[in-house]
Amino acid sequence: MNSELHVWHPFTQQALDPPPLQIVRAQGAHLYIADGRRLIDAISSWWVNIHGHCHPAIMSAIAAETEKLDHVLLAGFTHEPVEELCAHLRKVLPEGLEHIFFSDNGSTAVEVALKMALQYWQNLGHPEKKTIVALEHAYHGDTVGAMSVSAGSGFTEPFSSFLFPVQRVHSAHCYRCPVGKVRASCDIDCVEQLARLLEEKGAEIAAVIVEPLLQGAGGMIVHPLEFLQRIRKLCTAHNVLLIADEVLTGFGRCGKMFACELAGVVPDLICLSKGLTGGVLPMGATVSTREIHSTFVSTDRTHTFYHGHSYTGNPLAATAAIASLKVFGTESVFERIQTIARIHAERLAAIQKHPAVGNVRAIGSVAVIELHADDAGYFSQLRPRLYKYFLEAGVLLRPLGNIIYVLPPYVISQDDLHYVYDRIADALDLCIPANAT
Ligand code: PLP
Repeated sequence: MNSELHVWHPFTQQALDPPPLQIVRAQGAHLYIADGRRLIDAISSWWVNIHGHCHPAIMSAIAAETEKLDHVLLAGFTHEPVEELCAHLRKVLPEGLEHIFFSDNGSTAVEVALKMALQYWQNLGHPEKKTIVALEHAYHGDTVGAMSVSAGSGFTEPFSSFLFPVQRVHSAHCYRCPVGKVRASCDIDCVEQLARLLEEKGAEIAAVIVEPLLQGAGGMIVHPLEFLQRIRKLCTAHNVLLIADEVLTGFGRCGKMFACELAGVVPDLICLSKGLTGGVLPMGATVSTREIHSTFVSTDRTHTFYHGHSYTGNPLAATAAIASLKVFGTESVFERIQTIARIHAERLAAIQKHPAVGNVRAIGSVAVIELHADDAGYFSQLRPRLYKYFLEAGVLLRPLGNIIYVLPPYVISQDDLHYVYDRIADALDLCIPANAT
């Protein structure tokens, strides 16, 4: 079967990229290819899968729900799965985040947050607060609003004239410090640019959006906790909302349920998706404080949040999400994440000495190896070579150009994780001759 002709694959250049591999089943950290080979899914199938593929508790919960309710619109109707999911989420969300709006994916969770932030200020009678501030290197998704707040890149270039204007400020990219400091002696000086902007234009600014502690697709950049803490303080001081896009970082990725928790920060809006359903069914959620929600509750209909998607609050996705959250209580999920983090630290300590390696960084279950490259960036020529090498070695890793990252399902075995690192070590020797640096 030649699926290439009919299935339009995402982020794929059909004229250059290898044909897609046909996956016939998945279990735990493994994907099984139709030709009988097995891959270790070392990127959790685009960062969504947390408890392993086909987790029995999640799959059987969905199967049971299919006997009862497939889907019903969420305007004017409600159902047990969505209500129970809200109750479960409220138990794990940072204190103060209370009202949960469901959508379909990470990009829609971001769109919803941006629209909520803008309408919040209008509902309050401050339509002049309409500027959004976003970070350099940000990635928030591929819909138009999410692209607008994402940093400009080859992904957004064809649409640049259609994106809304955003105030862009430095990210705490310590390896490539935007203000020329070194972390050991800096005072998070990169945040001063935001401080000045808020000082000058705070009255026009609706919200600052960040990927807390870990910027993903923009280069797997790990921020110091203080960067997020300072942003929170600045937003509060200047009466600006803080939107935390935890689409990647949520549900344990960084070592706590949410990255914001690591910094002791509570945002005004949080965006969730990916791990929300354990990586099994698509679902997004945007959670607001009571204060934001209260401005939308009014006898004046213009205060209504007129936004929704056909599949908002889908019962099967909600059921998967409840089952996934329950796994945090029934299995030693955070211990698994700690074990992964320990292995990351051990292996990165050795890898960072390799001459091809410029920088290593890690947070929770995520490890990052940035290679030297003359053509550093997503379109680095290293990427196709590495991708092919890893696949042939039985490992799914999708380097972001010259940046290799390991982001496995939490159930990955220690042997499999070491195998992934052994192949990375081989790749550094075999794929990247010394003269490539
Ligand atoms: N926000 C962040 C931080 C992401 O990493 C992503 C996807 O990688 C998105 C938003 C968009 O999510 P989706 O691909 O589900 O639309």
